[in-house]
Amino acid sequence: MTATGLGGAGSTQAPGDMADPGFGVWADVVGQDSAVAQFRRSTSPQGSLAQAWLITGPPGSGRSTAARAFAATLQCETGTGCGQCRACRTVLANTHPDVTVVATDKLSIAKEEVRGLVMTAQRAPATGRHRVLIVEDADRMSAGTFNVLLKSIEEPPPSTVWMLCAPSAEDLAPTIRSRCRLVTLAVPSSEVVAELLRRRDGVEANLAVRSARAAQGHIGLALRYATQEGALAAREDSARTLLNLRGAGQAVLAAQGLVDRATAEAKEHADAVATEEKERFLRSAGIDDAKVPPSLRAQVRQLEEDAKRRQTRLVRDVLDRYLLDAHSVLRDVLSHQLGTGSELVNVEVAGEIEQAAAGAAAKTTLGLLEAIQVARDRISGNVPPLLAIEALLSRIAVSLH
Ligand SMILES: [Zn+2]
Repeated sequence: MTATGLGGAGSTQAPGDMADPGFGVWADVVGQDSAVAQFRRSTSPQGSLAQAWLITGPPGSGRSTAARAFAATLQCETGTGCGQCRACRTVLANTHPDVTVVATDKLSIAKEEVRGLVMTAQRAPATGRHRVLIVEDADRMSAGTFNVLLKSIEEPPPSTVWMLCAPSAEDLAPTIRSRCRLVTLAVPSSEVVAELLRRRDGVEANLAVRSARAAQGHIGLALRYATQEGALAAREDSARTLLNLRGAGQAVLAAQGLVDRATAEAKEHADAVATEEKERFLRSAGIDDAKVPPSLRAQVRQLEEDAKRRQTRLVRDVLDRYLLDAHSVLRDVLSHQLGTGSELVNVEVAGEIEQAAAGAAAKTTLGLLEAIQVARDRISGNVPPLLAIEALLSRIAVSLH
């Protein structure tokens, strides 16, 4: 172990006490003491290392961060996940030759991609002690694709370790699920998320607390609120709009506004990813100007079509996040009505929350919370988002006053 050459996650921490759950590569896996203990036990001399793992937890709880930390521990030159050695640092930086990560923001992971992975899984590690395959969105596989994966998970070569990540175990086919060791991540508290933003990302303390509270345990979202200009203000605006809806006309306008904003946000993200993918593809084909030769046009068109599909999914994801925000606002209203005395998620609009709480009965608010859940289900079940949101906001507009 070297004292210098700090880098990667946990770089601000000294090697520290090995018994500490935040030791070495685990520094950024916050609020998950029992899961971390489970991973670390399996690599201890007394533990037994399963060759297929299923890491579940709600979005933003740190599934892929945990998987990477575990992969680093498996490859670590000292066998501890020190966070200092070359193996630890390259795994965390995504450049270790024996660790393959598959992430997708497409609707599904292609069967071809999984076939490639299965072939990689058959190969002995090049430099490390294990060959590790991390699938970040393992729930986005069709039944046919699960079957391609199944064989390799049933009988992997001795040094291969699979790590599948998904929101919950029920998202995977039972045949896959039953062959994996399950690790369940918790929703991290906003205190530990705020502390992570301060330590890892250098976010100012007050902003870190506000961002973590608004993100309600979603680490990636908290970072966005903390670093993206106007993101917190936009969230606050939406909360205010929701609490001030008067009549169906306003509800219809507000619904259109939300869908437009989600579409713009999704498009911006999808465009950035598509441009990056296209550039990478052209670079790898040895073309540095924008003129695509006819022989490659079909492939470039495929990339563009993928980007469009991705955008459709993203719009729904962004809207779902807006609905979760709305849920937190109405929960604050309910909490006020019931006098629970618990701290508000949306303290910035405390005045409006108090007013809304006085203007309706707790039973009404409970009904609206259910209506939000219904709207989320409808949108994920392919009802046109605008319809679902209009219906929801109209109901809120007439119920809260
Ligand atoms: Zn190490």
